[in-house]
Amino acid sequence: MTEELHCIGCGAVIQTEDKEAVGYTPLSSLTKETVICQRCFRLKNYNEIQPVSLTDDDFLRILNGLGEQEGLIVKIVDIFDFNGSWLPGLHRFVGKNPVLLVANKADLLPKSVKPNKVINWIKREAKSLGLQPIDVLLVSAHRGFGISDVVEAIEQHRKGKNVYVVGCTNVGKSTFINRIIKQATGEGNVITTSHFPGTTLDMIEIPLDDGAALYDTPGIINHHQMAHHIDSSELKYITPKKEIKPKVYQQNAGQTLFIGALARFDFIRGERSAFTIHIANDLPIHRTKLEKADTLYEEHKGELLSPPTSKFIERLPELVRHEFSIKENKTDVVISGLGWITVQHANVVVAVHAPKGVEVFIRPSLI
Ligand code: GDP
Repeated sequence: MTEELHCIGCGAVIQTEDKEAVGYTPLSSLTKETVICQRCFRLKNYNEIQPVSLTDDDFLRILNGLGEQEGLIVKIVDIFDFNGSWLPGLHRFVGKNPVLLVANKADLLPKSVKPNKVINWIKREAKSLGLQPIDVLLVSAHRGFGISDVVEAIEQHRKGKNVYVVGCTNVGKSTFINRIIKQATGEGNVITTSHFPGTTLDMIEIPLDDGAALYDTPGIINHHQMAHHIDSSELKYITPKKEIKPKVYQQNAGQTLFIGALARFDFIRGERSAFTIHIANDLPIHRTKLEKADTLYEEHKGELLSPPTSKFIERLPELVRHEFSIKENKTDVVISGLGWITVQHANVVVAVHAPKGVEVFIRPSLI
């Protein structure tokens, strides 16, 4: 049996197969006497955190580990995939440690969205999911806004203790930490591996001024995320990249809107009404009659209705129907990871068909 090698930076077991997973090191680097994983290598040489992901077992191990540490937990969620990027059960594992909730990708929200409404919605949602964060902050790690407020909040709430940053893969955790490192160190001020000795948690340790540290935990794969059912080559059409431009559709009952082959929105009952669609700007919407929708989907998914294209359509789980009776004006019907449809008027019945496992829910409009 060959002996296990450990990264001298984070202590992870070295492996050469899975680039996305903890401990990845290119085969060519194994000849050296001391081995450093690619993630630590990039942090050491370029001051840059690289995203890595974990299996479910590792996830539980890390969560258990967090409860045994004392410090501030910074949990990152993607506002565009709030439910898909939530870490269920985190509140049970963190013990008495305070949790600061950071909602990322605020740059994608249309200008008409009111930040306070987003924050209030997140607070309500967090509470109903069993988490009482000490604060909720809205940021764009990509654009850099809100970051200095987060840094301030971290300083205020950590009370000299360590900081643990947790989040699902793809929420922008790496982009966020890279922002923080740049803010804290200034460019060119290189962090060396000696600052983050091996831990059993496979975390990367970034030293803070007072001897405490900020830890980057590996990203957790949440199997409900729409992104896992989509090939990476097609993900770019589905994930919004820029501020969303809402599209308004005037519909009569008995009409259906297809969002690529990913989801379907049926207007079942009610007066003629306006529906405002908030999804990635380039994602095609196809309008048809409700009575024809099933056949159209079967015959044209992957072609007229795409993405996913025919090459990847079989990977998409079957669509599941969710019906909603809308009682309030301005209600959002949210499809996690894809976007939402604002139903402008009350007293309508609608149904959304979305891939199995992807959450669909309603909330008061953010606008
Ligand atoms: P991680 O897996 O959580 O570490 O996520 P990454 O930092 O690798 O980011 C995942 C994806 O989200 C990348 O395509 C990023 O460009 C994108 N991303 C990260 N932060 C933001 C943000 O604030 N706004 C937008 N629009 N995209 C972001």
